Amino acid sequence: MSTALVNFIRELYQSNEFIPLHAPSFRGNELQYVSETIKSTFVSSVGKFVDEFERKIEDFTGTVKAVATVNGTAALHSALYMAGVHAGDVVITQPLTFVATCNALYHMGAEPVFVDISTNTLSLCPAALSQFLQQQARIDDQGCYLKSSGQRIRAVMPMHTFGHPAALDELMQICQQWQLILIEDAAESLGSYYKNRHTGTIGQFGALSFNGNKIITTGGGGMLLCAGLKDGERAKHLTTTAKVPHRWEFYHDEPGFNYRLPNLNAALGCAQMESLSYFLAQKRQLARQYQAFFADTDYQFVDEPAQCQANFWLNAVICPDLRSRDKLLHSTNDANVMTRPVWQLMHQLPAFKHAIRGSLAIAEDLAQRLVNLPSSVPEAF
Ligand SMILES: *Cc1c(COP(=O)(O)O)cnc(C)c1O
Repeated sequence: MSTALVNFIRELYQSNEFIPLHAPSFRGNELQYVSETIKSTFVSSVGKFVDEFERKIEDFTGTVKAVATVNGTAALHSALYMAGVHAGDVVITQPLTFVATCNALYHMGAEPVFVDISTNTLSLCPAALSQFLQQQARIDDQGCYLKSSGQRIRAVMPMHTFGHPAALDELMQICQQWQLILIEDAAESLGSYYKNRHTGTIGQFGALSFNGNKIITTGGGGMLLCAGLKDGERAKHLTTTAKVPHRWEFYHDEPGFNYRLPNLNAALGCAQMESLSYFLAQKRQLARQYQAFFADTDYQFVDEPAQCQANFWLNAVICPDLRSRDKLLHSTNDANVMTRPVWQLMHQLPAFKHAIRGSLAIAEDLAQRLVNLPSSVPEAF
């Protein structure tokens, strides 16, 4: 398997050099737009590219209001703040995610509760969520609470793993039934659709990331997607220090955040958006090639869930067992082809090891068998 895979990947990328997991691709107006901000001196918190980037994301995703932020974690933090998550509350999420999901709610003074993922989406499992709530939650006029501790369950935050959409209709229905706010961690899923609706736009809030390894990058950056116009306007106000507009007065009507994306980064984002459709087409083609390679092996390529269109941000394969996974990781990395196991599960990190949880059997099994494969757009490096 390993030698054949290394040869296959080298053929895909036409390279005998180091092959990274995900490199950005700057093939359009990136240099021109970034230079424009430098020449104009508007590199920081004022400039036309921030608004332009927000409009482009609104047009592309169909969200009501997009608010650019300094990174994806800041977008998640803003979403939780906007959702009214308070210190002592809990937020239900999945154990298989990047740590930013949990860090954002930790810094709200909230605690994560972990519920298992589905095999077919690698994201939060509606059946597991429903079962957890039936067993461990109660609902009254005020809201939804954990029976054991009395803590308020405020929100459910699924993450669209590697760009594969979670089962959003089912999750939304459960959230409505239990009076919970759905916040989508869509950091990895720009260009992914659930039943023709863009991920991050179905819950009340969604968060995108434009970190260097994501499908498009602004160096560092993120975007808060708001389903409500009022929420969007307040989020914009809050993330830009809550300053009331005035020609010279500095008056701030509530404690705000300085989460605004600099114009310099937004310029890069505007240029990257011009290539997004191209990246998506290239990544889909790459995914199909991997899928064909793994067909008829006992390694299972992670394909998009039914009725969904994934962006195939990071391709992944499920190995038969831990031993074959380790062998694959060793031989590919030894051959200068980067592959990676999935993140350490959140309930196994020191900060979250005491978190309340349902059965996490599927996440625990898959975490031992998943491997991410090089997924850059072929000409990226
Ligand atoms: C990348 C990512 C984020 C946000 O990361 P930033 O580096 O803060 O932009 C959040 N959640 C997930 C799942 C991610 O992959």
